[in-house]
Amino acid sequence: MAKRPQPRFPEPHTEPFWEGAKQGELRYQRCAACEGVVFYPRQHCPACGADELEWLVSKGEGTVYTFSVVRQNRMPGFIDLGAYSVAYVDLDEGFRMMSGVIGVENPTTDIAIGQRVRVEFEEQEEGEYPIPLFRPIG
Ligand SMILES: [Zn+2]
Repeated sequence: MAKRPQPRFPEPHTEPFWEGAKQGELRYQRCAACEGVVFYPRQHCPACGADELEWLVSKGEGTVYTFSVVRQNRMPGFIDLGAYSVAYVDLDEGFRMMSGVIGVENPTTDIAIGQRVRVEFEEQEEGEYPIPLFRPIG
């Protein structure tokens, strides 16, 4: 089981996001004033400044915008992963998030810009919050 780091609380802006992760929901925000999509979670809309952000649940599908492969990371929690990807994923609802693409044999050759992916929540050895990561579709 993976040992990726956990979020640290109290952290009022992201707690609803992580509570969603526990329920298998990828949550994001939308501004009730200007209808802009907001991610990462915030108190105020970065476009218009309103504080009327509502929470929505993404379908969890998107496209790899770009990625890199970390070949070695000596930090606890990553040392056992071997080579792993760090990817920006464009979700279909219109937000971009940094995550990773998992479930591929070789991250240097099996991930591509434009690839369709779907979120899944990886349970962690320590801590109650699963980490949202993406797996290629099909
Ligand atoms: Zn707004």
